[in-house]
Amino acid sequence: ATPIAARRAGGVVETADGVAIRLSAIINDPAELKAVDPASFAGIGLMRTEFLVASPADAVDEQRHYDIYRQALEWAGDAPAIVRMLDLGGEKTLPGMGDRKSESFLGLRGIRLLLARPALARAQVRALLRAAVHGDLGVLLPMVTVPDELDAMRTYFEEERADLFRHGVETRMPEIGMMVEVPAAALMLERFSHSAFFSFGTNDLAQYLMAAARDDQSVAALYDAATSAVLRVIAQGVGHAEAMKKPIGICGEMASDPRHIPALMAAGLRHFSVAPNRVTDIRSTIGGFYSDGRAAAEMK
Ligand code: PEP
Ligand code: MG
Repeated sequence: ATPIAARRAGGVVETADGVAIRLSAIINDPAELKAVDPASFAGIGLMRTEFLVASPADAVDEQRHYDIYRQALEWAGDAPAIVRMLDLGGEKTLPGMGDRKSESFLGLRGIRLLLARPALARAQVRALLRAAVHGDLGVLLPMVTVPDELDAMRTYFEEERADLFRHGVETRMPEIGMMVEVPAAALMLERFSHSAFFSFGTNDLAQYLMAAARDDQSVAALYDAATSAVLRVIAQGVGHAEAMKKPIGICGEMASDPRHIPALMAAGLRHFSVAPNRVTDIRSTIGGFYSDGRAAAEMK
């Protein structure tokens, strides 16, 4: 995708020692594109697409997907827009599809569900291929656990692209990257050298590291105690990504919490996708710390 030199000054902040940190927006709903000023961000770091599928019919409505991805790319201008493929299952069950047991947090969710339901995946893939013509599109695959899943989805992109070409439809191959939110993938990131970029999903990484469901209040204290384990996994993953010369960032909620920013910088992260309403706080926090996480002297 686009190099760190994002063309939007507002999306790049400097630490107290002058290291550039890129801030991208998390978009959960297309309505936010109207409310959020793109000048404050280096594009979109995570656009969730689950909002698109209130019903099974919507899920395969290629044109509906396309229109919204195009809007996202237009919002981002010449900065990257990273759209995540449907992350259904877990707590996000699609009405009328599947059963809650097989789509649990440890079951058929994210890319597993997409590969099990090719019609669903292919409609989204076609819309993404068509939309990619309108900007700098990155596609994020959710819940990737083993390299084969990435290969299988890439094959869908290649097949659908060939089909669209035969029908005279203009497309472009987007960069395809992966969420890093399953511990096995996070610990063995070097196996995913065919991923164009990486983004830590700490909301899920925390629940899987702690064996404590993110939506279960009775284990909330354990979930909240995940921070040090998560940071250790992040630091290792950043090392692997750097060795592979691949961009790596974070789009979990940790990055939208100023209290975690110094430790995330110390773990080596330089690209944060944040909730738009937190960006002002995050920006001032970054300015008050060195890139190794130490507070700059005389902070007020
Ligand atoms: C995550 O898991 O951290 C993440 C960003 O994705 P979601 O919260 O949608 O699962
Ligand atoms: Mg997740």
